[in-house]
Amino acid sequence: MTDTVDLKTRSRIMASVGGKNSKAERTLRRFLHAKGFRYILHDRRLPGTPDIVFPRYRAICFVHGCFWHRHPDCKHASTPSTRREFWDAKFRQNVERDRRNRYILLEMGWRVSVVWECALGKGKKNDAHARRIARALGDWLQGSKTEFDSGSNFDSFEERASDKPTPCKEKEKPEE
Ligand SMILES: [Zn+2]
Repeated sequence: MTDTVDLKTRSRIMASVGGKNSKAERTLRRFLHAKGFRYILHDRRLPGTPDIVFPRYRAICFVHGCFWHRHPDCKHASTPSTRREFWDAKFRQNVERDRRNRYILLEMGWRVSVVWECALGKGKKNDAHARRIARALGDWLQGSKTEFDSGSNFDSFEERASDKPTPCKEKEKPEE
């Protein structure tokens, strides 16, 4: 990636990403494992290097950061106000890549699920969120549906848990 973003913006954004193997993701995996699901991590042989692969269920799971993967209508999918064109192009690329990988995986006969970072209770005590998603994901694995998206199903849960309104429709600037 060309370095057109100033250092301050970049470090702020990198700090908000969470990254692979975030605590929330590890908690999710722990619950899945406890339920008896066995998986492979970050399988580079598959398009997009899926975060969690469940060979027995011919299913994969992407744990997506909301910012980079542009979670629709999510406050974490903000766009930095500087270098707008750079970000727009970057985001378009990411979304297009995700779409292509998903399509190829489905063509290969894999079932595809996406768990959004915010649904895992980003930056909060996240065990309850992870437990709930593990349950939903487990049901999906054992069911027959081709796709699963943690989406905003868990927003209302988060709202109750934190007792605050869910600001999911509003666009926010990244925190300074
Ligand atoms: Zn989100």
